Amino acid sequence: MLYKSKDVITKEYDVVVVGSGLAGLTAANKMAKNGRKVLLLESHNKLGGFATWFKRAKGDHIFDVSLHGFPVGMIKTCRKYWSKEIADRIVQVKKVRLINPQFNIETDFTKTDYIRILIEHFGLTQEVVHGFFKALEEMNFYDNTQMSNGELFEKFFPGRNDVVRFLLEPIVYANGSTLEDPAITYGIVFSNFMNKGVYIFRGGTDELISMMKDELLQNGVDIKMHSLVEKIDVENGAVTGVSVKGQKIKARAVLSNANLYNTIFNMVGAEHFDQDFTDQMKKVRLNTSSCQVFMGIKEGESIPDIGELVFCSDDEKFNTDLILSPKVGSQTFSVYYPDIRPQRPERYAVVSSSNARYEDWKNLSEEEYKRQKEYVIERALSALEKLIPGVRDKIDYIDCSTPLTVEKYTHHRFGASFGTKFEGLEISQNMHKQVAGLFHSGSVGIIMSGWLGAANYGVIQSHEVETFLSK
Ligand SMILES: Cc1cc2nc3c(=O)[nH]c(=O)nc-3n(C[C@H](O)[C@H](O)[C@H](O)COP(=O)(O)OP(=O)(O)OC[C@H]3O[C@@H](n4cnc5c(N)ncnc54)[C@H](O)[C@@H]3O)c2cc1C
Repeated sequence: MLYKSKDVITKEYDVVVVGSGLAGLTAANKMAKNGRKVLLLESHNKLGGFATWFKRAKGDHIFDVSLHGFPVGMIKTCRKYWSKEIADRIVQVKKVRLINPQFNIETDFTKTDYIRILIEHFGLTQEVVHGFFKALEEMNFYDNTQMSNGELFEKFFPGRNDVVRFLLEPIVYANGSTLEDPAITYGIVFSNFMNKGVYIFRGGTDELISMMKDELLQNGVDIKMHSLVEKIDVENGAVTGVSVKGQKIKARAVLSNANLYNTIFNMVGAEHFDQDFTDQMKKVRLNTSSCQVFMGIKEGESIPDIGELVFCSDDEKFNTDLILSPKVGSQTFSVYYPDIRPQRPERYAVVSSSNARYEDWKNLSEEEYKRQKEYVIERALSALEKLIPGVRDKIDYIDCSTPLTVEKYTHHRFGASFGTKFEGLEISQNMHKQVAGLFHSGSVGIIMSGWLGAANYGVIQSHEVETFLSK
């Protein structure tokens, strides 16, 4: 059932899922399908977490926030844990472009095409290119290799900044990876994406989440929105339920889809964990945040086919640190054509995304913040003008989100777009060893983040919850 915000919940549950990001949603659906009594609580007025959208100008424009692209594996995950109807809506992004002073390349982003381009365009030998991909495939998540991304590239492509840019720039946009990050995180994400290209959900995020909501209700999940969980209640080392606006809801287990840090320090409380565990948590690094510029095209206007994903940069050379800085000359354009993202009346939309650091935004005065936003908007407009001359005149809505916007709407500490870095995974997976019945799922480490990573991690953690409930 769908609770109204004023309803008081008196039922007891097997498990309360806190947060309806793709991990929380998928875990809730899976456990309900298995016959568990599941309550899904979401603080926001809609489900989806980062998988979200918003309307502006009296609903004339709909913008997707994080529907830019995900790996082919999402089809299998949706078919297995959601429905065939959802899986059948997933389609391949046909045209990905990378445009910068070093090269201008169009690709379908498959491994086959990347191999071709590395050989034909960048003049590398078959041996080197195949050796590189073989090394990526052989990377094992559980190998404790210390090799960094920078070392990996230097080993195969010494001195080739252009090749590193071609290989790494799209991934940096996707998750803020740096040359210092472990090569394993790059290897897994890259092999995942490169396998068969990039995919997108035809119909928009609102359509997807609406289909998921129907599916959850059909499978017996109770849902309540506008419900910020203030506390995860713990007695004698075990979870007893959650508190929302002072009201207690009883459950044998709690699966938190909220930020790892908030879960431990704000919702549960450090006193319920070993000191070593909380010390380890304090060392977990967060991923970076992002800025986005949302541009709506006037009714009746259209834009030419420039590709669905365009990685654009004015920077002469590739530098991962520069990509995160406020003055970066690079951004990714996601172009939403009416066939992929239907709107009534028919509209086109363009979203520019760039990585950003929370600390570069948090201490600005109101005036500086406004100016910095204007700079980001102008940067997006002038880069888009180069791709579509005259586009400024076709835009009738434009606004910019910043790391502070991300933090405000998602409760993610420092507006992290992709949760924590790699080391967060161990904390997330071991929470139940500290507090019986307490589980976590959501963006931790690059491979458990993004649409596919989060959904799959929801499945993994739902198994853990079920094992606990069956004891
Ligand atoms: C700008 C941007 C672009 C992105 N682009 C892509 C992309 O193209 N492809 C891709 O694969 N991924 C992309 N991602 C990442 C992807 O969207 C996320 O990794 C994924 O959706 C996160 O899912 P999650 O399950 O970790 O939960 P989240 O989406 O983080 O959701 C957590 C939910 O928990 C709720 N919550 C938190 N605390 C509480 C509480 N105390 N009580 C109740 N509810 C609570 C929040 O309101 C939220 O709804 C992007 C992210 C951003 C920010």
